[in-house]
Amino acid sequence: MTATLPPGNLVPDLTGVDAFSGDALVSDAVASYAPALSDAVAALGREVWAPETLAAARDAHRHLPELRTHDRLGNRSDTVDFHPAYHRLMAQGFGHGVHALSWTSAEPGGHLARAVLSYLWNQVDGATACPTGMAYAAIPTLRDTPELADFARLTAVHGYDPSFRPVGEKSAATIGYAMTEKQGGSDLRANVTVAQPLAARGPGEAYLLNGHKWFCSAPMSDGFFTVARTEAGPCCFFVPRWRPDGTVNGIAINRLKDKLGNRANASSEIEYHDAWAVLVGEEGRGVRTILTSSDYTRLDFAIGSAGLMRAALSQALFYADRRSAFGARLSSLPVQASVLADLVLEWAGATVLALRLARTLDHHDDVEQRLLGRILTPVAKYWNCKRAPLVAEEGIECIGGNAYIEEHPLPRYYREAPLNAIWEGTANMMVLDVERVLTKEPKAVEPLLDEIRDVAAGEPRLIDALAELETAVTSPAVGGRRLTCQLALAMQAALLVKHAPPAIADAFCATRLERDWMPTFGTLPHGADVAGIIAFARLEWA
Ligand SMILES: Cc1cc2nc3c(=O)[nH]c(=O)nc-3n(C[C@H](O)[C@H](O)[C@H](O)COP(=O)(O)OP(=O)(O)OC[C@H]3O[C@@H](n4cnc5c(N)ncnc54)[C@H](O)[C@@H]3O)c2cc1C
Repeated sequence: MTATLPPGNLVPDLTGVDAFSGDALVSDAVASYAPALSDAVAALGREVWAPETLAAARDAHRHLPELRTHDRLGNRSDTVDFHPAYHRLMAQGFGHGVHALSWTSAEPGGHLARAVLSYLWNQVDGATACPTGMAYAAIPTLRDTPELADFARLTAVHGYDPSFRPVGEKSAATIGYAMTEKQGGSDLRANVTVAQPLAARGPGEAYLLNGHKWFCSAPMSDGFFTVARTEAGPCCFFVPRWRPDGTVNGIAINRLKDKLGNRANASSEIEYHDAWAVLVGEEGRGVRTILTSSDYTRLDFAIGSAGLMRAALSQALFYADRRSAFGARLSSLPVQASVLADLVLEWAGATVLALRLARTLDHHDDVEQRLLGRILTPVAKYWNCKRAPLVAEEGIECIGGNAYIEEHPLPRYYREAPLNAIWEGTANMMVLDVERVLTKEPKAVEPLLDEIRDVAAGEPRLIDALAELETAVTSPAVGGRRLTCQLALAMQAALLVKHAPPAIADAFCATRLERDWMPTFGTLPHGADVAGIIAFARLEWA
């Protein structure tokens, strides 16, 4: 048999490479803005491409969660069984504080450092990045609600406790968000689940909920933020899995969704039957209350999409440096090198955009930064999530048939990628949010334009983009996806001028601003420093 095999040229798995210290864009950002947290982030960076981590991510997606509606004796149990690989990933992600570093560290740059943890974690596994992202978003609201102090404390723990017990008996907690109903997810005001006060009404008081949720991911979480209505309108509630009297709460898990991707994460359909819940915030202001968490989850999907792009890019570059065709390495073949370099530009733009957004949260008491964060949140969530599927697809093609095979990690990224645009506000919801900012808080665009102005001198394409934007943001006729794209591209270009090598900023401006580019990757203009661009993104695997 062996004698009939052709010689080598099959590329082994990408393993044993440090995903953080070799990634200059993120390691420089942490060194500049969160130096004291560098070690905490570096520790995860060493595990991203470890063989055990890769095996766990693969196994968790091959052995899917199973719903147990009833126990052997016919009693309702409403639990989900997960493969040990899933629990291993949860313990790893939560253990590193992917969900909480910003809330548990007093060091400067906590949100930036945590965002980099999430960027790294999304290179490992999107399914467990859902519960880490939800916990991250939940902690401030839990902390603001005295009745939920135990949940606040246990959700912030850097650890994982999967046991199904009342929260007071646990060493760590996880949190879900159950908002979407059958009749619609974007329009939460259409929710029909009803809430009735048990006795007194008002924030912190107990209510009983009856109704359903059509999507509820991570249903084994210890509690859920949810929306239900009273006479006053939609309200935000927190529903624990266990009632205060120690009995299991009235949450029936009807079914797990059979999903395109993100399959290791159970996503369920649930019903509330007199589910005991605590009102969070005022009655009738539930949509506003629950959306206070969305700044965090939207950042998490913007940075998560950048991480997913980085994973696909790292795989493509590693392969192209080792595989030969027509007597040369793939990465040195001009047509392929242009594709790889274009992917580098896409990843670099997405990464600096999300990191800039994360930094605004580290300075939330500064009005300018808060305003910048207000507009950058929908811009970055929209743009990064829209671009990730394209990068995953091109990453597969860079590797060819070997990445279309399920043993390779890329099919997992490919199926995961479209999800980030859908949940936590679809692309159109982000566009409408940008329009809302420009109408109701027009001042928010000023810090964004200022950031571009600060670096535009010397880059004529940025000066032109800025002039276009200055007109567009004040013109009622302009808006929609077009304006959101313009804002994203100009901001990415400005950030790359500031934070990336000139070869990258120059090619980005030429393609994305000057539009010297065609609508597929790999159409960089002649003269782009393709080798220099690729070299910047290589991890240390040579
Ligand atoms: C795997 C997975 C897990 C999920 N987990 C959860 C979860 O844990 N908790 C939870 O609450 N939800 C969850 N969701 C649901 C998700 O949040 C919703 O799918 C999402 O909010 C969109 O709602 P929808 O599917 O009802 O689409 P719709 O709201 O019906 O929207 C359909 C399309 O119409 C567009 N649209 C809607 N309104 C407008 C408008 N005014 N202008 C322009 N376009 C518009 C949308 O952008 C979208 O493209 C999950 C979804 C998936 C796929």
